[in-house]
Amino acid sequence: MTSILEIRQVGKSYGKQEVLGGVDLTVQAGEIISVLGPSGCGKSTLLQLIAGLQQPDRGEILLRGKVAASRSGMLAPEKRGINMVFQDYALWPHMTVFENIAYGMRRGKQDQTAIRASVAELAALLRLEGLEQRLPPQLSGGQQQRVAIARALATKPDLMLLDEPLSNLDMQLRVEMRTEMAYLFKKLGTTVFHVTHDPEEAFSMADRLVIMREGAIDQTGTPQQCWRLPASASAAKLLGAGNRLRAMGRSGGRVAAGGAEL
Ligand code: ADP
Ligand code: MG
Repeated sequence: MTSILEIRQVGKSYGKQEVLGGVDLTVQAGEIISVLGPSGCGKSTLLQLIAGLQQPDRGEILLRGKVAASRSGMLAPEKRGINMVFQDYALWPHMTVFENIAYGMRRGKQDQTAIRASVAELAALLRLEGLEQRLPPQLSGGQQQRVAIARALATKPDLMLLDEPLSNLDMQLRVEMRTEMAYLFKKLGTTVFHVTHDPEEAFSMADRLVIMREGAIDQTGTPQQCWRLPASASAAKLLGAGNRLRAMGRSGGRVAAGGAEL
């Protein structure tokens, strides 16, 4: 089976600062990957490299088995079959909800009837029915974020990139939306590459967790595997395991959830 995305030894520096130092990662169709790491560890840079907004200094990025980016060449972002949702939604404020969702399909020159049917389906899926004629400033934060997700899904991308998609929402909405998003993406079979600094968001969305530290991957595994057996003290800390961290400090070894030393 060809993987949707393959990242091979990808490195990126800005000036003298190495932001990514040789990242390797493969994503299969239908997987939801959550990259979890502290602010500044290189998550957004990794997403920008996958989207084609930045070029790697070394290594390769393959999409459906074909090289999309290397030091010597770049496939244009719009040819990658990728859509991205950002923290700040980036909706067009002068366009209605309908026009925002339909935007990509109109550029793709689909006919009006098909576009109307797709927008109606997405509006129903994302609980936006009745809001189609509103402008983004007339929506709540959660509604705006759902429009951004609907717009990104509308062109049926091979891969959805989500960069801290819920950070601007209040606590209650974040909790609701992360469960809803995970359910929706599973139902649609969307392949998702999601980055966040919030362990609870990563845990509620991910099939597979990728823990990053200072431009490198510290650990990959199911959320349960990472939780039970963090690969390092910093992974344990990131996963919110204060008691285990103290135990590790004493033993210098790995510890299981609940603090039992292995
Ligand atoms: P994260 O998303 O994990 O918070 P980023 O990928 O945004 O991390 O940033 C990683 C590091 O790279 C930071 O130190 C940041 O300041 C730096 N950086 C990111 N983008 C640029 C850029 N376009 N030019 C220079 N430095 C950058
Ligand atoms: Mg970021």
